[in-house]
Amino acid sequence: MDIIHLLPDSVANQIAAGEVIQRPASCLKELVENSIDAGATTIQIIVRDAGRTLLQVIDNGSGMSATDCRMAFERHATSKIRQAQDLFSLRTMGFRGEALASICAVAQVEVQTRRAEDEVGTLLEIAGSDVVRQEPCSCPVGTNFKVKNLFYNIPVRRKFLKTDQTELRNLMTEFQHIVLVYPKIQFTFVSNDEVIWDLPISTEKQRIEAIYGKGISKSYTSHLVDVSNDTELVSIRGFIGKPELATKNAQQYFFVNGRYMRHPYFHKAIVTAYSGMLQGDYAPSYFIYFDIDPQSIDVNIHPTKTEIKFQDEQTIFQILLASVRESLGKFNVVPSIDFDRQGEMEMPTTHSETTESPKVLFDPNYNPFKPSTSPTSAYTPTYTRPSYERVSANDIGAQMDLFEEHRRSDVPPTSLFQKYLMIPNEKGVLLIHQHRAHVRVLYDQYMHQFAEHKGVSQQLLFPEVLEFTNEEMTLVETLIDHLRYMGFELEQFSKNSYNMVGIPALLSPEKAVQSIKNILHTVQETGMDMREQWHQLIALTLAEDTAIPVHKQLREEEAKDLIDRLLKSDSSRITPQGKTIICELTEDQIDKHF
Ligand code: ADP
Ligand code: MG
Repeated sequence: MDIIHLLPDSVANQIAAGEVIQRPASCLKELVENSIDAGATTIQIIVRDAGRTLLQVIDNGSGMSATDCRMAFERHATSKIRQAQDLFSLRTMGFRGEALASICAVAQVEVQTRRAEDEVGTLLEIAGSDVVRQEPCSCPVGTNFKVKNLFYNIPVRRKFLKTDQTELRNLMTEFQHIVLVYPKIQFTFVSNDEVIWDLPISTEKQRIEAIYGKGISKSYTSHLVDVSNDTELVSIRGFIGKPELATKNAQQYFFVNGRYMRHPYFHKAIVTAYSGMLQGDYAPSYFIYFDIDPQSIDVNIHPTKTEIKFQDEQTIFQILLASVRESLGKFNVVPSIDFDRQGEMEMPTTHSETTESPKVLFDPNYNPFKPSTSPTSAYTPTYTRPSYERVSANDIGAQMDLFEEHRRSDVPPTSLFQKYLMIPNEKGVLLIHQHRAHVRVLYDQYMHQFAEHKGVSQQLLFPEVLEFTNEEMTLVETLIDHLRYMGFELEQFSKNSYNMVGIPALLSPEKAVQSIKNILHTVQETGMDMREQWHQLIALTLAEDTAIPVHKQLREEEAKDLIDRLLKSDSSRITPQGKTIICELTEDQIDKHF
């Protein structure tokens, strides 16, 4: 008996859908790209429950005839290419003819569409690839797509969806990828009846401002400089962030011919152009728009089309590198650097007068989720129980003895370089890194507060209004309890702002805004999925922000108090990130130098 048979279309489509439609965000991308291809100038997006129950896209584009509308849902049905050759002259976002077939295989779809030349439009309802209803209807010119109950017929896939907050963030990210490159289209985004974005037709720069300018980084685009270079091979335009805009989670966007793309190799070109200007793991922001002959790129390597192959990648790399360097130089962003010493990462020592030196928000070497690069550090990813690989229990015992002896002898600690506290006694010398000691003490304290669910807060005399972008708002909402346990008291003030009425007792009011910003960035960077580690992250960020600076002359009582408190910690030897706090030099060790 023969055993091979063709799968019914509905099944084949469901399988194909797995590649194209992974989550509401991919569905949104496909629908909006179709609207763009249809020449729409207004696109309205309405989602409910992060797209789980409803994802609606309304456009004023070309619309479809009744027959085309039915055809559109067949697999490999497209109006965009006719022959294989056309693949190499693509100017449209879509071309596979797979999206609608995939979507209608895994959701309940309702579409209303009308072309300008038709009196009546078409209403079509499809669920699980089956046509439920098709009839004439009256509707405006354009297309109105409703995708309901995504994955209703594939419970497994539905289960794989993340929380609404995460899926909403994915939708927002996808939305940003598209709107940043189509400023001449008016977009609105409504989630659960709330208007999240209403973006008028504008320039690219205004669009960027509209997306990123609202929140804690006001007038975002004033920190950008223009990049522009026209060559025969490629035209490069866009904006790069001045070094001061660099953060750990910078906005980094490449677009090619109107399409968002990821391109690690070109990314390197930009990072190289900035070399020496940024510290630690701070990354530059950029929005780069490539325009290139479609013949010389291949967008057909990945179903979601975010990976794009360029024919002449090395040349484009060089052009990009040169363009970015030129802009950094032209706008006096760079100190005079010897460009031939490519790839060297050292900080330039001379800054020209107009140079704004990169702003370092906090110790750039400090990233709790990356193992420290220092080979000797005892890094540990679980902060509650730092590892004592290099310190045996005996050592700690000895340590305590030293401390105790010191306390009994009551010799005041001496300050060394305003950075270390030195405690001599008959066994040797203890050196204590005072900033790190303070971070340890504060971290323990914040973790304790968190465990007890009560933060020690100081009321602000003049409450501060904090504005956030939509993305940051979602993040703040998620973190609000964590923040409260640490001492931040925030009250929602408007759709995009919170009133900060109280802050952690130890935090200086001037630092509070920056500190919230640091917390959001760190959490964002670590990923929303690391929920169990949020409180540690926040405690760490706060500890760093409230600790004494690395160089500070402590008064005698302050120094003693710090040492006393350090001694009470279970982990007095290393910071939560595994950096050494105490170094002990015994007489033997000192003798060896003589
Ligand atoms: P592709 O975009 O790759 O062609 P899709 O499955 O996304 O494939 O869409 C199939 C066809 O349906 C498109 O080629 C287009 O002709 C038509 N279509 C889809 N969405 C719209 C829309 N919003 N307005 C007009 N036509 C549309
Ligand atoms: Mg499409």
